[in-house]
Amino acid sequence: MKAAIYCRVSTDEQAREGYSIEAQKRNLTKYAIDNNFEIYDYYIDDGYSAKDLNRPKLQDLLNDVKDGKVNVVCVWALDRLTRDVVDMWTLINTFNRYDVEFYSMTDSTTTDTASGRLELNVKGIFAQYERERTGERVVEGMLERAKKGYYTANRVLGYDYDPITKEFTQNPEEAKTVRLIFELHCRGWGIYKIAKHLNSLGLKTKEGNQFANNSVSYKIRNGWYYCGKFMYKPKNKKAILLDAININNPILTEEEFMTAQKIRNANYSKTRKYGSEAFTFKRRLQCVCGKNFSTYSTWSLRKTGKVMMRYYKCRKSDEGRCENNKTARNDILEQEFADFLKDFANKEFIVLIERNNEMIFELKKDLENAEKDLEKEIGRRKRLQYLLLDEGINKEEFESLNFEITNSINQIEERMKNIKNNIEGLESLNAVEKEKELAVMLSHIWEELTQPEKRELIQRYVKRIIYSDHIEKVEFIL
Ligand SMILES: [Zn+2]
Repeated sequence: MKAAIYCRVSTDEQAREGYSIEAQKRNLTKYAIDNNFEIYDYYIDDGYSAKDLNRPKLQDLLNDVKDGKVNVVCVWALDRLTRDVVDMWTLINTFNRYDVEFYSMTDSTTTDTASGRLELNVKGIFAQYERERTGERVVEGMLERAKKGYYTANRVLGYDYDPITKEFTQNPEEAKTVRLIFELHCRGWGIYKIAKHLNSLGLKTKEGNQFANNSVSYKIRNGWYYCGKFMYKPKNKKAILLDAININNPILTEEEFMTAQKIRNANYSKTRKYGSEAFTFKRRLQCVCGKNFSTYSTWSLRKTGKVMMRYYKCRKSDEGRCENNKTARNDILEQEFADFLKDFANKEFIVLIERNNEMIFELKKDLENAEKDLEKEIGRRKRLQYLLLDEGINKEEFESLNFEITNSINQIEERMKNIKNNIEGLESLNAVEKEKELAVMLSHIWEELTQPEKRELIQRYVKRIIYSDHIEKVEFIL
């Protein structure tokens, strides 16, 4: 048996103990020797992630597999090879096609039995979960940093941000604009008037745009960073105010900012209902023509009285440059999004069902083979009994051969029991349930959320929703 030893470590794993190339090599060499394998070659991808199969040594390995140079592939753990279920299948199928066995040391998984392949399938799915969870870890990382007093945002008018040192320093020109906003606000100017004034002076937002009402009100409402502070909200807990250690030279004093807050609070209850917060999908909705939808509100007369309705519409269609003149109403869109999530959850489910049905099909074939083997052994026993009757063999010979056949039958029955268990397990596979639940759960949560929570969820996890007269596509922020 000629063994290929594959080792991989990504750049950020290099420092972690147990993951080093040397450790992998040492352990696998010992493993190969213990199993009487002849080591054909070492394939080492140092500093490569498992995100795809595009790794030089892995490609060499696959070529050698196809050329019949190796019979066994050994890895330290499954995730050394890949973290992606589809990639895993590609590799396993290649190994199977060229009759190459596969051993993962720490997963104790082989591909020479259907149950081994099943286990591999499950583990592959879990490895993928692991990867998907790293997206959540980024959010957690930001929270960790917040606890230490780091304000985290990329672009804030008034400051320049250094992504390396994570520090905010005053941008003199922009800081002037910020001070003007707060000054006018404290003089009693309304948001709309301030925005108009800033635009008449030719001042621009951080993105280089004209000021809109909400970009002014947001700064007054949430601009704690202008006095060197920020709100930190741990999950399910009340927000707390922290000093930002990475804002060196705040634009406003705390007193100045607090004064502005008091003035705003005086009008808050009157205006809050009609603010931009009421648009759940603000800045996330894009027309099929590529233009963002803009927001607008109108009063509508209902049985319950006068209600403010919120709509989205393609900006180009207003100008007659887009065919899609469909308006999307905020509350209806929320429902459409919930339906989209449900559909999405079901689609994912079908993909997994298909994958598992393939496995079940294979296992059933294995079961058929085992049944045939069993019949053969039973036939042998019958012939043996006839032989004994015909006195073709003596009692001793009979007993010895019969013992052998009984053992063989027991083994086959044990094998069949395992296969049946696996089929059963597969039909209610936890991993499938888990993935389904995950998607369904998202849609359930959605129904229970308040409008501001929905908005927060959309703003955080949805990059873009492509809309025609219905939701065409949702791009998530991972
Ligand atoms: Zn359009």
